[in-house]
Amino acid sequence: MQLKNTPARAAISNFLINSKEPVDALQIINFLHSKKLNTNKVTVYRNLDVLYKNGLLDRFEFGEGKFRYEFKKNHHHHLVCNKCGRVEDVAGEYLTDLESKIRRQNGFLIKSHSLEFYGLCRRCQK
Ligand SMILES: [Zn+2]
Ligand SMILES: [Zn+2]
Repeated sequence: MQLKNTPARAAISNFLINSKEPVDALQIINFLHSKKLNTNKVTVYRNLDVLYKNGLLDRFEFGEGKFRYEFKKNHHHHLVCNKCGRVEDVAGEYLTDLESKIRRQNGFLIKSHSLEFYGLCRRCQK
């Protein structure tokens, strides 16, 4: 598939690259509107789909009934707040030991894993 670099797509990519956590389509639409970029839901969803199918994005579903997108980066995990819905990144290196342990104990060759932690973020514990 040919990736045409339309202004909307460039802006969406930039927003995703600069986001510290996975974002949903609504956050992207709000961002584009704040930049006075004339766009609509359909355009945003279509662009996200193209970027995702071209392997540039990771897509997550944290049981919210919607997808969140993130530009592909180093392996990491997510902390999902059950109260305010905030999603934070957390480093992924903790699991390397666990994977080699499983490899030894179960003889299972792990190619990938996905792990989310659900609970309360710092703000929601107050
Ligand atoms: Zn919270
Ligand atoms: Zn993330």
